[in-house]
Amino acid sequence: MIVLTNARILTMDAGLTEIENGWIAVEGSTILGLGAGAAPARYGAAQDMGGDLIMPGMVNPHCHMPMTLFRGLGEDVDDRLFRYILPLERALVTADVVEVGSRLAALELIRGGVTTVADMYYFEDRIGAVLDQSGLRGVVGQTLANFAAPDHATMDEGFDRLDALADLYRGHPRITASAAPHAPYSTGLEVMTRVANWSDAHPGLPVQMHLAETQPEVAWARDTHDMTTVEVADRAGLLRPDLIAAHVMYPTDSDLDLLAERGVNVAYNARSNGKAGRGIAPITGLRARGVNVGIATDGPMSGNTLDLFSQFAPATMFQKIAGGSRKPLPCIDVIRMATIEGAATLGMAHRIGSLEPGKQADLIRISLDDPRLHPIYDIYSMLTFATMPTDVRATMVAGQWLMQDRLCTTIEGDKALSDALQVARRFKAKIVEIDATA
Ligand SMILES: [Zn+2]
Repeated sequence: MIVLTNARILTMDAGLTEIENGWIAVEGSTILGLGAGAAPARYGAAQDMGGDLIMPGMVNPHCHMPMTLFRGLGEDVDDRLFRYILPLERALVTADVVEVGSRLAALELIRGGVTTVADMYYFEDRIGAVLDQSGLRGVVGQTLANFAAPDHATMDEGFDRLDALADLYRGHPRITASAAPHAPYSTGLEVMTRVANWSDAHPGLPVQMHLAETQPEVAWARDTHDMTTVEVADRAGLLRPDLIAAHVMYPTDSDLDLLAERGVNVAYNARSNGKAGRGIAPITGLRARGVNVGIATDGPMSGNTLDLFSQFAPATMFQKIAGGSRKPLPCIDVIRMATIEGAATLGMAHRIGSLEPGKQADLIRISLDDPRLHPIYDIYSMLTFATMPTDVRATMVAGQWLMQDRLCTTIEGDKALSDALQVARRFKAKIVEIDATA
């Protein structure tokens, strides 16, 4: 049993219960109890949190973990996807490279207070292995796309990999397999329909897809189907309560109604979208219709960091700019989206996302030592606008500490970084080659 005491506790339960000074007890992987004052003596020795904040571990519902290796590459080059990323992926992204990039990502997630991540990329079995070793909780999504992929040559091979992934993680306590059709334009109606059928046969495994992300995608749907891209996904049967749709930048009003009616979940990637010079996702409109929206990072090639703190300010500022006032997306909603609502986007709100007896012990300890955080009139404002990932002192998933006093206990940090830098040197050599022939 682990008992934490002398903590300020933010539960994020349905009543948004806050405990000014209290305790929380963890037994095995679950929360046994929590309350105000001193921990009950029957629980034995308690660890003094020194007044630090304990809150639920955060949920990042859209990520491409191995892309840490592309972080900051061709940062301001408009065609960098075709000029650098795709050629590098084709030439150099192997299963081993995926594992190296994912380990660096796992380290960053743990150090930033993210305890659950939904990923879509290639060689997801290797990403799952990293999540498993690091102790994180996650959804691993086999990407399916019509363009050349590093881990499958044909769509049949892609589905074979997906089947294998589902077999590998069946019954795993922390890792869930997932189908991840890349996007409507890069898969098409036929492949999306095949994914929907696969998902019908695999209940409980979520589906991840980029949706209504770009104007060319919107044009593709209009030109090929005379529909919106959201309607094409619906025609395929993919608008479903187990879908996590990333971005949703350009839906029509009737698309918003359709997404809500079908119970689709949305991952909001404000930094990634803003950096690409795209519009502002209609998050306020989606949430007003009852759609679950989680705050996500996207891949570190697009959003650079994998913690959620660096997402919060742009996430709410974009909504405020679009709404022309201070009101849209208040801080309390931002933190809800990063915890319990983010858990709901993955269909996991009954297990994680809040601190309640019986739920999984996924929690983080945030140091309140830094003067930058004080005074605290509003804890949600502090978390949204003033807290940094380096304020996270400890991270626990399923009752296991993954970091204590900033030291990661499940990943060798120095090695994870030096392995990644070694791969980056190979990437740099290839970049020089690309630039020389351009
Ligand atoms: Zn993405």
